[in-house]
Amino acid sequence: MSGTAELERELVRVGRRLAAAFPSSSHQPLRALDERAMQMASADRELRAALFRFVDVVPACRSLDDLARHLVSYLEQVPETPPPLAAAMRISATRAGRAALGAAAAGGVRHLAHRFIVGETPEAALGTLSRLWEDGIGTSVDLLGEATVTEAEADRYAARCAGALQRLAAATPGWPPRPVLEQDPHGPLPRTNVCVKVSALTPLLRPDAPRRGQLDAAARLRPLLRVARDAGAHLHIDMESLDTREAVLELVLGLLAEEEFGAGPSAGVVVQAYLRDSPAQLERILEWARAGRRSTPLTVRLVKGAYWDHELVQARQHGWEVPVFEHRRDCDRNFEALTRALLAAFPDVRVAVASHNLRSVAHAIAANRLSGAPDSALELQVLRGLGDDLGRALASEGHRVRSYCPVGDMVSGMAYLVRRLLENTSNDSFLFARAHGAPLDELLKAP
Ligand SMILES: Cc1cc2nc3c(=O)[nH]c(=O)nc-3n(C[C@H](O)[C@H](O)[C@H](O)COP(=O)(O)OP(=O)(O)OC[C@H]3O[C@@H](n4cnc5c(N)ncnc54)[C@H](O)[C@@H]3O)c2cc1C
Repeated sequence: MSGTAELERELVRVGRRLAAAFPSSSHQPLRALDERAMQMASADRELRAALFRFVDVVPACRSLDDLARHLVSYLEQVPETPPPLAAAMRISATRAGRAALGAAAAGGVRHLAHRFIVGETPEAALGTLSRLWEDGIGTSVDLLGEATVTEAEADRYAARCAGALQRLAAATPGWPPRPVLEQDPHGPLPRTNVCVKVSALTPLLRPDAPRRGQLDAAARLRPLLRVARDAGAHLHIDMESLDTREAVLELVLGLLAEEEFGAGPSAGVVVQAYLRDSPAQLERILEWARAGRRSTPLTVRLVKGAYWDHELVQARQHGWEVPVFEHRRDCDRNFEALTRALLAAFPDVRVAVASHNLRSVAHAIAANRLSGAPDSALELQVLRGLGDDLGRALASEGHRVRSYCPVGDMVSGMAYLVRRLLENTSNDSFLFARAHGAPLDELLKAP
């Protein structure tokens, strides 16, 4: 039997077992998002844009009246408003109607935000984080915030990150032992794991002057790496839009190669498979890792990429070549090829595959097994609020799974929330297909 056929067989076996543990009808986050507005948004591009614009301004609204006026002004731009929303617009003609509409809208957005954001502060999030740990699911705390515009804002973000690392590192030793989450073939894994975004660590990150932004961000990221090292924590640097990728990667790999970080902290970067040039990026990272400058292997988190709409629109606006794949299948095929390349790089890197797509996840598990490595050589990651059921299914099958848990207030979380809503209402996503009853065989088919 050829290697590919064997891989497909194992993949289908794994996919079926996981699917049995989280039937599509149990997909709780999508059920919650299946509220009328989100259903309507999926079907109507103009309405979808209007609702997302509204979600974006909610934190800045000062009163229920203000909220209702914003909602109505966005809805007025939609050519064909669905009847329930047209009715909502009609009641906004009176002051009392606007108060009722504003209250309902604010409640809806808050409800959505709470699905994805685990708490306003690390302190408030600790209960959820420790419950997940007890259930056999590790966490990565994402300090919400991005694209800062002032130095003071960047300082505040860096202070929040340092505080979170210290607060979590003080709490996690009290958690019960969970061997699957604490050890892999490379050695011990930190219980405390925090993610940061470089665009929140400097207001100067611009593609036309990358050096300035790098120097400014380094002045905040270097102390954070020291805090993580001293706390025995893992620090992961998220990847954002393409215009910052080069600066971020160069900055992070440069800092991690500094002598003082040779023995720690455990750290990681992200590769986005929707980018056509991602195989070359991964090769560059692996080359860096092979040079073996550090005693703790670099963790590489493989994702598809969360800025697809942005990259496409920006390239088209400027007449640039589109940097992302334009068909989901091409993106998924590349994701699988990069998964295999990452697994083949053992022991130079730690591999984390982050996806809610059953096929992509089952492929990673099957490819890892066929390479002869134990399941513990592969970490699987999901987003809190979107991948909870899949996360539980993976944990119940004995896999190491980590849930990405955003922490922060509604204002700093709005951009994150809008990205998650875009994903949930995209007809081109795995979760949408599964929630709308696509047959399992179809979902597990090779892209
Ligand atoms: C733990 C975790 C951490 C993450 N960290 C990051 C990060 O640091 N940076 C980041 O950018 N993203 C990050 N993401 C988000 C991730 O990139 C995806 O947006 C999300 O996981 C959806 O991908 P999927 O495999 O789950 O779903 P799928 O439904 O299988 O794929 C959806 C993805 O396919 C791509 N896509 C959609 N339509 C098309 C199309 N027409 N042509 C080509 N490609 C298309 C997009 O990337 C879209 O997000 C993270 C995700 C997780 C789970």
